[in-house]
Amino acid sequence: RNHQLMASKQENVRADKKRLPMIVANIGLPSDVDGALKAGADGVGLFRTEFLFLSSKRLPTENEQFRAYKVVLAQMAGRPVTIRTADVGGDKTLPYLRAATEANPFLGNRAIRLAFSQPDSFRVQLRALLRAAVYGKLSVMFPLVTTLDELKRAKQMMANERAKLTHQHISVGDVRVGIMVETPAVAVLADQFASEVDFMSIGTNDLTQYVMAADRGNQQVADLYQPNNPAVFRLIKTVIGACHDNHIPVSVCGEMAADKMAIPILVGMGLDAFSANPRSINKVRCLIKRLNHRKMVTLANKVVTMAGTTNQVEAFVQQAVHNE
Ligand code: PEP
Ligand code: MG
Repeated sequence: RNHQLMASKQENVRADKKRLPMIVANIGLPSDVDGALKAGADGVGLFRTEFLFLSSKRLPTENEQFRAYKVVLAQMAGRPVTIRTADVGGDKTLPYLRAATEANPFLGNRAIRLAFSQPDSFRVQLRALLRAAVYGKLSVMFPLVTTLDELKRAKQMMANERAKLTHQHISVGDVRVGIMVETPAVAVLADQFASEVDFMSIGTNDLTQYVMAADRGNQQVADLYQPNNPAVFRLIKTVIGACHDNHIPVSVCGEMAADKMAIPILVGMGLDAFSANPRSINKVRCLIKRLNHRKMVTLANKVVTMAGTTNQVEAFVQQAVHNE
């Protein structure tokens, strides 16, 4: 069975290579699916479920969550849907899911860390997701993973909830399990994580702030918050290489996926999917269609080896791709 799984993953990656990369949508609420479909999204690459939570005075119940996830899967009608477990904390706080006041919330108890400190709420979400998976092609990913232990713990909790539901004769569906790549620790050890997941999605908004040590919301260090810094691209290359060595697909779901300076580089690195705001999908698709893949491979290699600043990277892409 394991062997079969490998073979099919391998075929997927190969097929994705031959095809153009997938262009999928970032959404925050089920009501965003309409816009994603109208924009021609090939699927949902990131459903930020915390928005469901932010619009409620208390934790949405298992059934409320189940219905929201089911609606998205059903409306996407068999297209792939990636749902991220709640990414609360940092700049997104909730009265009913809250860490103690922290000096550095972005380095503190947020995302999967907060989920582990409030395991009952996390279990509710996992159960809702497993039940909804019956209605479509669901991938679940965990935000801000930093260590392999965290990943194993989250997977174990999901397996436990699956077993409980099955024992209660409640239907559950197949779920692919993945992680967001948002911490340098995961990017550096991507090869070790790749053998433990079905896919990865690079969250360049957070990855940039942690690589550059520059708060993504702080105007005073905005000039240091550089998604197109060569340091970020080297890490992204490491992640894509590790995923493809392990025959799993990898996407970008941060703002970078819609940046015309970054897209040519990501195409050249062989990224499998771009997940962007529905408003950007058309623009992303048009740009990707007109890129020559072989030339982008050369361009991407140049970017990671050039003794470069962010300005040099952007000037190089501008000249190579946009000044034609
Ligand atoms: C990211 O960090 O790039 C990401 C997609 O997650 P969010 O913007 O919700 O933190
Ligand atoms: Mg993030």
